[in-house]
Amino acid sequence: MSVGLPFFRYHPDPLASGSIRASADKCVCCDRSTGWIYTASFYTAQEINGNLCPWCIADGSAAERFEGEFSDSYGLDGVSEATLHEVTRRTPGFHAWQDPHWLVHCHDAAAFIGEVGYTELATHPEALEQLRLDLRMSGWHDAAQLERFLTHLGEAATVMLFRCTVCATHLAYTDAS
Ligand SMILES: [Zn+2]
Ligand SMILES: [Zn+2]
Repeated sequence: MSVGLPFFRYHPDPLASGSIRASADKCVCCDRSTGWIYTASFYTAQEINGNLCPWCIADGSAAERFEGEFSDSYGLDGVSEATLHEVTRRTPGFHAWQDPHWLVHCHDAAAFIGEVGYTELATHPEALEQLRLDLRMSGWHDAAQLERFLTHLGEAATVMLFRCTVCATHLAYTDAS
């Protein structure tokens, strides 16, 4: 990345997703002003007054020092312990209504791309189809109603878009307040 941020395999563009933004604020973990701070979820029982920098996320020092995790391990079934730790402790989380969680494909965690609406989702037909099937499985039996819900994504509900780190297939889940 041109700005020299650490590379996150499971969250390759945290600037685009809004999880990291430019700021002169110091990091509460390393006490440096790196020019970048983390803005999304961090689950810890400790009181943290301030922000974390991307480097303290990448090397695991923030998770270790504050005994916290950036996202829930929910959904990360069938991945290695090392991957589970990398996603929850060394990868920026993202902004979501519900607790952010990762999707899995090809036995690896997928890379989080960002929050999208219907227009962008529709450019990845395989993700749209997978979402349609998931929603049907979860009880959407009225096809017309389901299509209406899908085409209005981006309004009341949004979509979290991922890409498989192995086969590059796009995956998605819906998020709503
Ligand atoms: Zn830091
Ligand atoms: Zn895959």
